[in-house]
Amino acid sequence: MIGLISATAAGAAARDRLAAAWPDRTRVYEGPVGEAVRAAFAECGQLVCFLATGAVVRLLAPLLGDKTADPGVVCVDEGGRFAVSLVGGHGGGANELAREVGELLGAEPVVTTATDAVGLPGLDTLGLSYEGAVAAVSRALLDGAPVGLEAEVAWPLPPLPLVRGGSEGAYTVRLTDRAVEPGEREVLLRPPSLVVGVGASKGAPVAEVLGLIEETLDRAGLSRKSVAELATVDAKAEEPAIVAAAERLGVPLVTYSAEELAGVEVPNPSDAPLAAVGTPSVAEASALVRGGELLVPKRKSVRADGQPAMATCAVVRRPGRGRLAVVGLGPGARDLLTPRATAELRRASVLVGLDQYVDQIRDLLRPGTRVLESGLGAEEERARTAVAEAREGHAVALIGSGDAGVYAMASPALAEASDDIDVVGVPGVTAALAAGAILGAPLGHDHVSISLSDLHTPWEVIERRVRAAAEADIVVTFYNPRSRGRDWQLPKALAILAGHREPATPVGVVRNASRPDETSRVTTLGALDPATVDMMTVVTVGNTATREIAGRMVTPRGYRWQAEQEEAR
Ligand code: SAH
Repeated sequence: MIGLISATAAGAAARDRLAAAWPDRTRVYEGPVGEAVRAAFAECGQLVCFLATGAVVRLLAPLLGDKTADPGVVCVDEGGRFAVSLVGGHGGGANELAREVGELLGAEPVVTTATDAVGLPGLDTLGLSYEGAVAAVSRALLDGAPVGLEAEVAWPLPPLPLVRGGSEGAYTVRLTDRAVEPGEREVLLRPPSLVVGVGASKGAPVAEVLGLIEETLDRAGLSRKSVAELATVDAKAEEPAIVAAAERLGVPLVTYSAEELAGVEVPNPSDAPLAAVGTPSVAEASALVRGGELLVPKRKSVRADGQPAMATCAVVRRPGRGRLAVVGLGPGARDLLTPRATAELRRASVLVGLDQYVDQIRDLLRPGTRVLESGLGAEEERARTAVAEAREGHAVALIGSGDAGVYAMASPALAEASDDIDVVGVPGVTAALAAGAILGAPLGHDHVSISLSDLHTPWEVIERRVRAAAEADIVVTFYNPRSRGRDWQLPKALAILAGHREPATPVGVVRNASRPDETSRVTTLGALDPATVDMMTVVTVGNTATREIAGRMVTPRGYRWQAEQEEAR
């Protein structure tokens, strides 16, 4: 809950806007400001104070405790110009809240935490449990001092300017699920990489199950903080000891059908669970069913009274799934790059793309991003590299201009990818749309894009498609219309369209849409000189209804009311 406190009429007005926008997230504290701040501080996870920072600092001072537990506090000034993240920037989420509040009220977010200000993600914001010298290592990162990365587990981290495989430098970030203590100049990051498979007989005591799990992790030298989940068979989903153990460890309990578990190959199958629940293995199979490496094979609990064991467990290390974002950068202009695309570029630790596109967004990348750029023609290699990097557990962005799925990298990459990585696509403004907006409204009715590049497609196929579009009276946008070595295809394609459309049919030619040297013109099918077209251009040919109106190309949508208007005239 976000507590809202204000003192003046202007503050109250801004407060009410926030309360109206986030009715379920906010609570208004009325009354004397001091009491309101104290109450909100005790009851809420975050505060937004429409008060001077000085006043808030004085009120908060006696209340402040620990930066990992205190609420995040944002101050908004009387004029509503700034949303200042005052305390709890990371732990309390005040930096993020300042951004959100700023966006809503049209105020500038003010964030002074060093890591945020220079675009480095804070070591405490990676979504991983952490311990050790966070402040010292963060400072070293900011100072540009060498900080080594020792990754014992593959995990899709955002970019950090770390030296892989450790460094001579005194500082290290160690990504580990082992039960080790951090060194003096070391931060330990705990990936949730361990899956503990558990079996238990009906009525097994909680202490026996939990004790077995904890002892097993301890003996194997594994950290409890890296346990991602407990896993078992469906039939044990409500077994009290297993449910309680998951609760105690603070992790979810995941269950699988006996049938699925029976299909998992395990080193230690046995008859007892087969008879009881229908699978020869519960602990090992449920830990292994989603893949990974078996670190600790099945162990049984030992009972003081010498009775048969009632619990089993096994531990598997499951490396993080890599992430491949296929990101369209739009036609060129920065303000046609979507916020989602920007977020993906900043989230990736590896960027793969054509050098000229990388140049387009290099300034947006976070320090430490590994850039793998290559020249024209290396499409297959780029696709393979991107997928291979994701398979190694990295967060990868594969970029393309316009939309990355349109005559671009998405399909070769996804043709290589298997289901062992996560894939997200971010759409971009493709050239046909960018050009359409410049020309007017040429795509108002059915339209098609056709690439005239016969590098990957035999010309007969292209010609057949152009002919089909011509016969069906569809607006056509030609991508890759003409290059130095490929000059007869465009005239040929235009001739096919001219067989079904008047010479006066409008044609739009847009070169470098949304780039600094953008040019465009509307001409006609009869008058277009193909020699004026090159590879930086798209050519949009209207259908039989397309008109040039006031210098703009317009394909009527064919609304009935327009037809009626014309009839009436
Ligand atoms: N994925 C890109 C298309 C790649 S094919 C997209 O969605 O836009 C390359 C062709 O796209 C070029 O030959 C040209 O025909 C067209 N193109 C790409 N960007 C362009 C731009 N800014 N202006 C005009 N045409 C462009």
